[in-house]
Amino acid sequence: KAMVANSTSSRVRVVVRVRPFLPQEIAAKNGNPKPCISVLDNDLESCEEVAVHLKDPDTIRNECYQLDSFFGQEDDNVGKIFYSEVKPLIPGIFHGCNSTVFAYGATGSGKTYTMQGTEERPGLMPLAMSTILSMCQSTGCTAEISYYEVYMDRCYDLLEVKTEEIAILDDKDGQIHLKGLSRVPVNSMTEFQEVFSCGIQRRKVAHTGLNDVSSRSHGVLVIAILSPWGSGNSEAAVIGKLNLIDLAGNEDNRRTFNEGMRLQESAKINQSLFALSNVIYALNNNKPRIPYRESKLTRILQDSLGGTSHALMIACLNPGEYQESVHTVSLAARSRHI
Ligand code: ADP
Ligand code: MG
Repeated sequence: KAMVANSTSSRVRVVVRVRPFLPQEIAAKNGNPKPCISVLDNDLESCEEVAVHLKDPDTIRNECYQLDSFFGQEDDNVGKIFYSEVKPLIPGIFHGCNSTVFAYGATGSGKTYTMQGTEERPGLMPLAMSTILSMCQSTGCTAEISYYEVYMDRCYDLLEVKTEEIAILDDKDGQIHLKGLSRVPVNSMTEFQEVFSCGIQRRKVAHTGLNDVSSRSHGVLVIAILSPWGSGNSEAAVIGKLNLIDLAGNEDNRRTFNEGMRLQESAKINQSLFALSNVIYALNNNKPRIPYRESKLTRILQDSLGGTSHALMIACLNPGEYQESVHTVSLAARSRHI
């Protein structure tokens, strides 16, 4: 399937992925759960956009939103998303264009499954790494990874134990530097799995005493391509990079009754997701001013969103959650709006 031609180079595609019902969800509905999400225009081959229909099975409430593509419950493997949406972004990073892929959605909607996957079903992060490594072999380039999380607007390295946060510096030519962030060369999938799983483990155990921070922070894997003619490990050798981001779960505070620390966290999360949506909206509508400075996350991604960059937002949905899905899809559709 050919990629739909973008009107401008910085256009951000917004697609939906609905995860299947889990065994316990099926059991809770006596073996017959009703999905609340469907796609109206199924003619994905010729259509430049799809209409995603959300319908509450218990009431007559329903909503419809236009998005770029739809991956339904039957698509349990992430390969289809990878081949049609992510793989086409990879050649560009070998030619100096940075790219970013986000998984966006409520907690439990399948973001981590989509990005990391499991051992049997690798997600977009290992799939992208593997494609990049084989392109490195044919071009003589090398790859380096960084992995960090943004929690409460602070940035923490996940590949090395550091207590202090990583400072964000921007230089004159608009380049963003994360001061002291570790960059690890990766030559094979075995090396990648080793380094990355250590980082995932660190993300799980960091912030002791706080509950489940990993789904309340943004996890960012950066794969940087280095020129074969570069000077060793220097940042100057970086040709382009791919950011793969497992965003913090978006929440509707009116529904979750968050209090105290939870509410503060939640406010920060929603603020940064809203800022991200504003940036994508501004890019997709060719606004003269892109509001990157509204959050840490958008500031960090400034060199990888807009300009010659390409980005993809995957709105992840739990098929049994109507209200939550409306919340996710409406924000995704709002940022896509053109
Ligand atoms: P999130 O990161 O958005 O909080 P997870 O990725 O942890 O959500 O997914 C929630 C649960 O659903 C997990 O148990 C995960 O294994 C399962 N899951 C998510 N997506 C799929 C899928 N496409 N196929 C099968 N199981 C999935
Ligand atoms: Mg998660």
